[in-house]
Amino acid sequence: MPHPEAKPDPAAPPTGDIVELAALVVPLPAPRPSVPEGYSPPAPDLAKPARFLFGGRMEPAPLEARSIGSYARGCLAGAAALPIDGETWQVMRLSRNRNWGHPDLITFLEDLAASAPDLGWNGLLVGDLAQPRGGPMLTGHASHQIGLDADIWLTPMPDRRLSREEREQMSAISMLKDAGMTVDPAIWTDAHARLIRQAASDPRVERIFVHPAIKKALCEFSGDPDANADWLRHVRPWYGHHYHFHVRMKCPEGQTACRNQDPPPAGAGCGQALSWWLSDEPYKPKPGQPAKRRETMLGDLPSACRSVLLAD
Ligand SMILES: [Zn+2]
Repeated sequence: MPHPEAKPDPAAPPTGDIVELAALVVPLPAPRPSVPEGYSPPAPDLAKPARFLFGGRMEPAPLEARSIGSYARGCLAGAAALPIDGETWQVMRLSRNRNWGHPDLITFLEDLAASAPDLGWNGLLVGDLAQPRGGPMLTGHASHQIGLDADIWLTPMPDRRLSREEREQMSAISMLKDAGMTVDPAIWTDAHARLIRQAASDPRVERIFVHPAIKKALCEFSGDPDANADWLRHVRPWYGHHYHFHVRMKCPEGQTACRNQDPPPAGAGCGQALSWWLSDEPYKPKPGQPAKRRETMLGDLPSACRSVLLAD
């Protein structure tokens, strides 16, 4: 059954029935309110922390698509939106307006979503990508600033279109058993593992962040980590990330202002390094570390981000 909000098929033959023809007419966008001559909108207060400036822009910068800076310190020009519904994906938390990314990220997500059913995964529930102009986010993430990061829920897409309300309210499911350091075998499945393997095997992907318990489950799923190091090395243990996994793409070809991370170390990463992550060590408070990081200001970002912020 077509989704009630599905667009009418423009290729459908006209029937001659005037009522049905009327249903084929796509409404024009509402006219923009007229702006009095000489009026210019108030300039944003550039002394505010950058997250307020970038978090306040609702539309992408109408410039050529560019990821500028590094994943946790940069911005995004010419962003594209991931449509909120596809055959095999749905975007969650629409009120956040974070379904924006470099066009290559959008293509990657559409490709991953298309491959999902063959992996035994019904479809993707997509969380945060980036703000329309990237930059530091009002809340949450330190990264996701240059339109090359995406959060994908570890909950498969249901068989129906979720309402806007459900996309705000629905909770993702943790993969952990008793909030401990192993996945729950009643929740974690091989389909989860196949989906992450598919993403990690994509040459466009730089890193995938998952909870250490999920990395361990993937090492076991592979049967032979050393023989699967080509994809396993891209899956990195990190804090959190047991409700969703985080895909980070490499800087797309020719994006000279985009700063790649060092490639992940060689090897599957299933041995010593992972045992550290599974110990108490990473979760102990570290003395001498400031409790809170200083706010990022516009001047802390690459200088091109000023034009991205202000472009009309
Ligand atoms: Zn993320």
